[in-house]
Amino acid sequence: MEQQQQCEAWSQFLNFAKTSTSISAFHNWLSPIEVVSHSPEKMVLKVPNIFVKEYLLTNFKQDLLSFVPVLPSGEPALEFVIEKHDRKTRPFLIPQVAPVKPQDEKEEQEAAAFEAQLNSHYRFTTFIEGSSNQFVKSAAIGVANRPGMTYNPLFLHGGVGLGKTHLLHSIGHHIREHHKRLRVQCITTEAFINQIVDSLKNKSIDKLKRFYRSSVDVLLVDDIQFLQNRTNFEEEFANTFETLINQHKQIVITCDKPPTQLKLSERMVARMEWGLVAHIGVPDIETRVAILQAKAEQKGLTIPSTMAFRIAELIHNIRQLEGALNRLSAHSRLMHATINDELIDRTLKDLFHLTPKEKITIETILKGVSSVFQVRVTDLKGHGRTKDIALPRQVAMFLAKELINESLVMIGASFGKTHSTILHACKTIETKVTGDDMLRRQIDMVRRNIDMQSA
Ligand code: ADP
Ligand code: MG
Repeated sequence: MEQQQQCEAWSQFLNFAKTSTSISAFHNWLSPIEVVSHSPEKMVLKVPNIFVKEYLLTNFKQDLLSFVPVLPSGEPALEFVIEKHDRKTRPFLIPQVAPVKPQDEKEEQEAAAFEAQLNSHYRFTTFIEGSSNQFVKSAAIGVANRPGMTYNPLFLHGGVGLGKTHLLHSIGHHIREHHKRLRVQCITTEAFINQIVDSLKNKSIDKLKRFYRSSVDVLLVDDIQFLQNRTNFEEEFANTFETLINQHKQIVITCDKPPTQLKLSERMVARMEWGLVAHIGVPDIETRVAILQAKAEQKGLTIPSTMAFRIAELIHNIRQLEGALNRLSAHSRLMHATINDELIDRTLKDLFHLTPKEKITIETILKGVSSVFQVRVTDLKGHGRTKDIALPRQVAMFLAKELINESLVMIGASFGKTHSTILHACKTIETKVTGDDMLRRQIDMVRRNIDMQSA
């Protein structure tokens, strides 16, 4: 019969572990483990979540061999059952600082002082979806619908201005609206560090810790890359992080790079990877146009779609796209001018120059085409005329004309062809893309691929 049992061997292990780990780690990770049954052949342990199991095996596998049965393979003979999570009972709420709910008005005010604001424009409804951010958006919605129950932590990463903060705040709004009892704290890493510094100065660090460990149900942390090279704060963050995760409290983190590229301790990187790591990419041209037009509409501005395409083709970063829109809007209002190509050129000239055209080479284009069309660069450079090769080669020529500031003769020379071959290729592709959605998308993918290579 399997039942929860007092187990001498496990008590001995815990006594041993107490001497080799910090008190907080012991309480957060080892105390919640229960022995379900034990025999000379195996021991069955109940853990609150998979992370506790991983923590135990990662840190104590060798030590465990002295206390628990051992398999013929030399591994500890342990079996794990994951505790069914019941929100109401919260069976392992063991924060390092005793959980104190704000009991009177004063304490409530103190807690409110730490709370950060959400940008009211950053909502799921205003976040435009395309193939580059669909996955991330649905992961964010999943977490917002069932905080602490799906992916924890959710780690969102991607380049600057691609909507990470927008999604983070959208999660915050959604939870505040649909799970009214949950207390949401959204904070930038900089602000988190500043709070610690301030509270150390004011000798109120315990209050701050109490706030994070007992008055927060959902923690949204923006730009975790700023934790790099701040060792002291890293530890404080790691402790808060573990306490919250152990209580099934949702954490969402944004970053400009994936966890493995962060210069943080291995322990910290591993924690970032516990849940779901999701990448947010550069939106494709259609999505950029949709974003531009939606933002224009919010400003009461109409941009004809050919012009929206032109702007979105040249500007890939959404924040810059918004900057472009603000300028256009200001100019057209002040000058009472309608938005046309001339106004676009005049007001956005410098933004257009931000695109790294100078750095783009034939090689970069060939590489981009090769990876999207799955053909070899040597074949693109060769003379083979099968359709599989001829079309991607023409695409490479078309993009070379578009992206490289060189004469057709020079571009032709790089391909070992005449300028009229390049011209023919460009015309062919221009005609084909108008009726071939798939080809248009492929070309756009190559453009993004090139952007990434030359960034
Ligand atoms: P990041 O945090 O990744 O640097 P932000 O979330 O601050 O980027 O986004 C920059 C701007 O672009 C914000 O104003 C945001 O509303 C807007 N934005 C980014 N992606 C989208 C999108 N898919 N739909 C609508 N707006 C977007
Ligand atoms: Mg941001």
